[in-house]
Amino acid sequence: MKQLTLSTVLTNRVPNGAQSERKPAARAYLDNRVTKSQRENKRTRSQGARERLATKEHLTRLAVGLGEVELAHKLERCHSVVEFLFCPNKHVYRIIPNFTCEFRLCPDCGRRRSRKLQSKYLPAMRGFMLHRKVTPVHLVLTQTHKKENRKQSAERIKDAFTKLQRRGFWKQHFKGGTWSLEFTKDKNGLHHTHLHIIGFRRRFFDIELLRGEWLAVTGDSHVIHLKKIEDIATGLREVVKYVSKPLDIRRFGADDLKEFLGLKNMRMFGTFGEFRNFCKDFEPSDNEGAAVGDLESLARDLVEGCACPKCNEPLFSLRMSGKELPQFYEQVESSPPGKVGTSWN
Ligand SMILES: [Zn+2]
Ligand SMILES: [Zn+2]
Repeated sequence: MKQLTLSTVLTNRVPNGAQSERKPAARAYLDNRVTKSQRENKRTRSQGARERLATKEHLTRLAVGLGEVELAHKLERCHSVVEFLFCPNKHVYRIIPNFTCEFRLCPDCGRRRSRKLQSKYLPAMRGFMLHRKVTPVHLVLTQTHKKENRKQSAERIKDAFTKLQRRGFWKQHFKGGTWSLEFTKDKNGLHHTHLHIIGFRRRFFDIELLRGEWLAVTGDSHVIHLKKIEDIATGLREVVKYVSKPLDIRRFGADDLKEFLGLKNMRMFGTFGEFRNFCKDFEPSDNEGAAVGDLESLARDLVEGCACPKCNEPLFSLRMSGKELPQFYEQVESSPPGKVGTSWN
């Protein structure tokens, strides 16, 4: 029965059932994309702030070029003045912007959005893992590139994923999870769309079998990556990153922005399967709430003069133009602990 769903390619690779039980070599789990993004995470705060500023300036120029005056204006206003709360030992607690544009490609608003998703879903994920005895994995599904627009490319991969979830193999091995979309474009202008999935695995399986399932629903795509998630907080951060940064905007042209504006209502992140239902009625218990190490909700109550929860020094509040932020962070990075903020302005 199981052979019915497998392609010829796969049947050749997995000649008998016994082999499919074998644990594949660790190499099969290596995912270059994930390793690459972990390197990106090592950027300093000032580098990150500088990149966000450059991205926003680039987007604003493109918007002006397209006559999207309102969008350009919003992007310019977004985070143009920021107020923040920090301590002399470099612990930054809160950044309060004067205005948020909520444009999906805005890197500042994207960061806020991905933080919100993390604080919303992390407790639910921890609760789900505890109650359902599942192992989280990061699964990347890819598809062959065709001449199509971004929307068609996204719909094609999402449709295939819907089909995959209806199959017996998937139901036997997964109990739902989250998905997010990532778009890239190659030098020939073809769209590469990937689905990043946090899947809650019920039991171990040979990745080749899943590859066969994916090939069966897409008809032509067999490139997938699978990596066990050791720490769910890190895993979730990896995946929601694509919500804040769905594509490489530095290589973005006016046509790309125009096309993206047409995608207005497309969802970029979602939950599925049993995890989706679990989230609907999930109320974190005291234990699970505490497990999140809820610094974020603690930070909401802090004001200037309060003691820093990490080092007890009094907190400062500072207001500056968003354009000054990278310089400010540079100063923070090069100051000895205990001296931050005292010489700014
Ligand atoms: Zn914004
Ligand atoms: Zn501190």
